Formats: sequence, C-alpha cells, structure tokens
Amino acid sequence: MPAGVPAQGPGGVSDAVPSAALLAHLGMSGQLLVRTSAEAAEQHRHLRVRLTLSGGLTLDFVDQRTFGHLSVQDLAPTPDGEPGGLGSDLALLPVPALHIARDPLDPAYRPDDVARAMRRRRTEVKRALLDQSLVSGVGNIYADEALWRAGLHYARPTQRLRQSDAVRLLAAAEGVMREALVQGGTSFDALYVNVNGASGYFSRSLAVYGQEGEACARCGAVVRRDAFMNRSSFWCPVCQPRPRAPRAPRVRVEPVDRPGASTA
Ligand SMILES: [Zn+2]
Repeated sequence: MPAGVPAQGPGGVSDAVPSAALLAHLGMSGQLLVRTSAEAAEQHRHLRVRLTLSGGLTLDFVDQRTFGHLSVQDLAPTPDGEPGGLGSDLALLPVPALHIARDPLDPAYRPDDVARAMRRRRTEVKRALLDQSLVSGVGNIYADEALWRAGLHYARPTQRLRQSDAVRLLAAAEGVMREALVQGGTSFDALYVNVNGASGYFSRSLAVYGQEGEACARCGAVVRRDAFMNRSSFWCPVCQPRPRAPRAPRVRVEPVDRPGASTA
C-alpha cells in the first residue's frame, strides 16, 4: 500500500502547501521503520534509504527483495475533498495513489457509502472486498476473516446483498484490521515486521484462514478451502452458506389446443 508523506522545502518546515510528496511503494517485502538514533545505530542488513526526521528519529526504508521503491511524486487534490489520510490535514494525495480508495482506518472513510458502492457492483463479494478502488487495505487473509465474521460466503453476488449485510461485512473487515494492527499484522515470518521492527502475531488468532479441515470456532463444522482468484478462500459451510444459483426461468407449458376443448 503506498503511503504519501508531504515533502517540505530544503529549508525544513514550511507553511507553504507542498506540491510534491515522497511516495513509498513497499512491493512484496519493503518496510518503513521508524527508529530512534540509538536503535538506528545498528544498521539493518537490507537498508536501502535512511531519512533523518526531526526529533532525533530516523525513517529507514528496508527491503530484502527489491520490488519496493521510493519516489517523489506530484500531489493532486483528493477525489472526495477530504484530507489525504491519517496524519495529514491537507486534501492532497500523490498522483499514483489517487485511484486507491480509503481504507477502513482512514478518518474520512465512510462505510455506508462504500457499502452502497459495493452493492452497485456486479461481482462476487470477496472480489469487491479485495478491489482497492472500492476499499483499500483488505488483503486475502483479512477478507476471509471478515467474511467469516459477517457470515457471508465469498461468492455472494454483491447486487443481492442488503445494505445491512454490506455494512456488517465492512465493520468486520475494520475489526479484523484493528485487531491485527494491535497484534502486529499477520506476518508468518520475521521478514514482515511493523514500524518498530516486531513481527506479527495476528496469524495465531485467525479463525478461518489456513484452517482447512479444522473445526469452525463458532459452529464446529469442518472449514473448507476453495481455489479463488489464483489464491485460496477458507470458509465455513454452515456459517457461510454457499449462495443458491439464480433460479432457472420457469418454462411455461402452454395448453395444447385439443379438438373439442372449450377455449376460455
Ligand atoms: Zn461455522
């Protein structure tokens, strides 16, 4: 997920509205680590860029592989006129991030509006949840957990969701993300760490993702795994019933005219 930091002029703090921002694209393995100068003395093996921040902090861009990158990008007004995200008062975003919808932790995120937009789509609900132009920050694992919490099958057609279903699903996604944030994410190995460099423990509390063949924590049914969008979907067949196929149009049998039969 890209994160924009409005850039200041060479003289440091400036009151002028910035016209450019430093954009970090984390790729597969990039990390931004905020460290005190004491912590930063021990240099990370995969340190690519070090920025010195005010207040004795450093911001290290660390990437084991090299799919991530930093770039300076022009800023443009946000599509909804709201501030550019958590920690920013300016209604500006780096141009390459303009198409990315707000995530559930963004102060200007409006779940009722997102739910309505989701129901206007003609797709399966999990595809909508993973679509960064609708809502951002929900990956495959969080999507499965949110669908399980909301009791919705991943293939439910968005256009047949009630507004209350869509709102409940988005609230579940937000809940999963907030809990994961507290616990440090779903990192499965030491490669993925939070801004303080600690790896995630949330993977230990996953209810359904990766639980194929295990008992559902809510009802005891056996959790299933399906292939979905080149990845996996884990779901409970009882808590998340598969949607019924749309009813086939009924064939109307026209009465055949028989000789001697009266016509009404
Ligand atoms: Zn269940």
